[in-house]
Amino acid sequence: MNNLFNDLKFDDRGLIPVVTQDNRTDEVLMLAYMNREALEKTLETGTVHYWSRSRQKLWLKGETSGHFQYVRSISYDCDGDTILIKAEQKGAACHTGHHSCFYRKLDFEAISGGTVPKEEKQSQPDTVQHNIIGEDDDKDLSKILKEVYNIVVDRKANPKEGSYTNYLFQKGLDKILKKVGEEAAEVIIASKNPDSGNIKCEIADLMYHLCVLMVEKEVGMEDVFDELKGRR
Ligand code: AMP
Ligand code: ZN
Ligand code: ZN
Ligand code: ZN
Repeated sequence: MNNLFNDLKFDDRGLIPVVTQDNRTDEVLMLAYMNREALEKTLETGTVHYWSRSRQKLWLKGETSGHFQYVRSISYDCDGDTILIKAEQKGAACHTGHHSCFYRKLDFEAISGGTVPKEEKQSQPDTVQHNIIGEDDDKDLSKILKEVYNIVVDRKANPKEGSYTNYLFQKGLDKILKKVGEEAAEVIIASKNPDSGNIKCEIADLMYHLCVLMVEKEVGMEDVFDELKGRR
């Protein structure tokens, strides 16, 4: 514990920024600040406390809204100037009622006028390495879908001998679309006639081919999840 406080660098106001993520989805919920007391309270109670800069007081997140954050893990970065918390979020993290404070999205592609380097957008080996599923995450189904997606991204960036995914990319969009169509048809057939195929397998095939299509069309898994979440 002493170690932790020695490793951390509080700024000249005695504050350290905290990034809080939803422990189920890894979605970034909010950024706020802690002082020593807020961190101590958080460690003591397992419920996230910040320092409110606007109100200049210790802030138990959820104290008025009931939207508490229950700590699942705490990490700090290489130079000890930022804390990362994964928490179970009750209700919305943002006081506007949005699940995450980061609900306002720039259309960066449009703003940058397509000047985003293509290479860097497509090859994301970092994402692949850091998103490998841990034992604890096996239950998190959205992570499994993300892992499939990340493997497809990695195949596109680093083609592998004999890879079916690379075969699809090589054939191009029309081939990928044809496969999506075929797999969708097979889902329908398996649903109508249980003897003709295993519905679970057909849905899995469709989801995999949708991942290939998404990578080909540069649609992020986050974009789709955000879209779904926005409809709740
Ligand atoms: P709460 O801690 O959720 O009961 O919220 C108490 C007050 O803190 C709210 O009225 C807001 O002014 C502020 N607040 C709550 N959540 C956030 C947030 N995610 N970011 C910034 N301010 C917040
Ligand atoms: Zn570093
Ligand atoms: Zn840092
Ligand atoms: Zn907010």
